Parts: sequence; structure tokens; C-alpha cells
Amino acid sequence: MKESLLPVSNVTAVLPGGFLHKACKFLVAFCALHLCVVLIYYLSGADFYILQYFRRNQQFQNDTIINSTLLPTAISTKGIEELNDCPTTSPLLVGPLNIVFSMPLDLEDIRKTNPDVTDGGHYIPKNCKALQKVAIIIPFRNRDDHLKYWLHYMHPILQRQQLDYGVYVINQDGDKTFNRAKLLNIGYVESLKEYAYDCFVFSDVDLIPMDDRNIYKCFKQPRHLSAAMDKFGFGLPYNQYFGGVSALSKNQFLEINGFPNNYWGWGGEDDDIYNRIASRSMYISRPDTLTGRCRMIRHNRDNKNEPNPQRFDLLAHTRQTMNSDGINSLSYKVVCTTRFPLYTNITVDIGLPPS
Ligand code: BGC
Repeated sequence: MKESLLPVSNVTAVLPGGFLHKACKFLVAFCALHLCVVLIYYLSGADFYILQYFRRNQQFQNDTIINSTLLPTAISTKGIEELNDCPTTSPLLVGPLNIVFSMPLDLEDIRKTNPDVTDGGHYIPKNCKALQKVAIIIPFRNRDDHLKYWLHYMHPILQRQQLDYGVYVINQDGDKTFNRAKLLNIGYVESLKEYAYDCFVFSDVDLIPMDDRNIYKCFKQPRHLSAAMDKFGFGLPYNQYFGGVSALSKNQFLEINGFPNNYWGWGGEDDDIYNRIASRSMYISRPDTLTGRCRMIRHNRDNKNEPNPQRFDLLAHTRQTMNSDGINSLSYKVVCTTRFPLYTNITVDIGLPPS
């Protein structure tokens, strides 16, 4: 008790000489050290973050951009890496859909009802990282009315399916014989110049799924999506049928050397694709016949798309020709590329059938 009552001068007197001085020095050194450690942590943390940012950007460039000048500025992939993967089954799906082709449509209205679709017809889910990057490729000529129905129905469906997708309309220039499979090959090449798609859906312009659980993505095996068309009584005309809408991953597409370039006019090219797939020991996967239902817009046969009389002969030789006729022998000229709000139009000169 008495000690605590000692005057301050007496307290210093009882401590060893210079002790306070040393204690203060130690305290200052300790604080400085602490400050250094905090600073080092802070700076290395900031550096680490910056490095990660650059690494991510670098990786994005390696992964996705083939021709950066073509990448639509609107495809903002900012922040995607931080998102969680989208669920295997999208919670936004509604199931069966009522598909009719009787109402008049206006492109501007379709654009307004799909505000998240960016120029060129691209969409990336906002709240999760899409499981696949899908290029939708539509072979085309003079079917603007059908395309409106396609855009009207498909954009909402594809968004509900939570896909990272882009729509490419490959328009055959001129009025010479149509070549569907060659246009599809071109769609594959041209879409990859824009973005690192890993899945390719090849769709006729006049086909719409009647159930949004029929996901427009790729599967372990090549997928036939138009598995139950109304035109065939909601069934298949034959088991090997692969026409209408199909999906192949990049690897599956390359495995079969893409599609044939030498089917001019109507018919056979889809059977050739089937032959290619079978010859590489792959098989066709399909949704069940309820989920796979789809409607086709009824129309007359297009001009310059008469049945191809050579198709049977060509089909008999797929296995011999497929290694030299396909994506490795594709030649064409791009006439013009236009990025419309709901799709990218690529008009191409594909040449003429051999005379
Ligand atoms: C043709 C195919 C066509 C199918 C159904 C076949 O004879 O070769 O190209 O998709 O008929 O119409």
C-alpha cells in the first residue's frame, strides 16, 4: 500500500537506470515492425489482386478471342469468372410451350422484349456462369418471316435455358442452288472467329421446340434436338434421321471433319452427317418424344432448292469421301457481316455446284 503512494520521482528512482528509455525504444521498434508487416501484407495483397486481374484477362483473351476486332463490344464477360456455375437444370424453365405461327411480328417489339440480348444476338446469363458457350447457326436465304418467328420464340427460350449463346444467320448470297451443309460449316468457322464457342447448334429457320426443357446445348454424343417434329406426326421419319436441329460439340464436329460441302439442293446432307457420326463410332442422343416435340412453319419448297438427284450416290460413299470433304476443304467468301440487335447476319458467296 505504501509503495503505491510513493511520489513519481521516487518511482523512477527505484527503477534501474535507462530502463524506461530502453522500453520506449523497444516499443517504437515493435510498432515500426508491426507497421512494416501490415504494409507488406497490404501491398502484397493488392499486388496479388492486380496480378489475378491481369491473369484473368490474359486467360480470357487466350480462351475466347480469335479475332478481337470482331468481338462485339457488347459481349461483356466482366465478372463472369467470379460467378458460380449455373445449375445443371435451369430453375427458369417452364416446360411445354404453345407455338403458333399466325400472329404478325415486329422485330423492334422482339428486341424490346429481350433487353438483355446484346448486339449480334448474344446473351450471357447475369447471375451464374453458363455451362456452355453455344453458337446457334441458321442456314438461310429469303426467309425473313420465318426468322422473325424464330427470334420471337427462341430468344426467351435460350435465356431461360441459361446459355451463353450467339445467333448466326448464314445467308447464301445470290440465287443459285442452295447448299445447307456448306452454310453450316461456314457458321462453325465464322462464329469461332468471334468467341470461343464450345458447342454448335445447327438449326433450320422454321423449327421451334415446343418445350423449353429441350436444351439447346451439347451432350456426350451428338444430339438430335428436333426429335419429334409435327410434320412427321411427332415422331421420326426413320431412326437415322438427323435433320432439322442438331447439336455437336467442337470435338464431335472436328471428329467427323465437319459436314459435307458437296450436297447442292435439297436432301441427303443430314443423312451424310449421320453416316459420318456412325463411322466414328458415335451415336445420336435425343430428348424423349414429348420433350423433343417441335413445330415447323409450313411453306412451299424454296426456289433453287430442288431435290438433289445425286444424293443417293453421294450417300453411298460417305466413308470414302468424308476425310477429304468437310471442314478441311471448305472455301467461301464473306460478302458482308452485319450485327443486328437480335442476330449476326453473315452473307457468303459459296460458289456453284460442279457442272
Ligand atoms: C432426305 C433427308 C431429309 C429426309 C426427311 C430424306 O430422304 O435425304 O435430307 O431430311 O428425307 O425429309
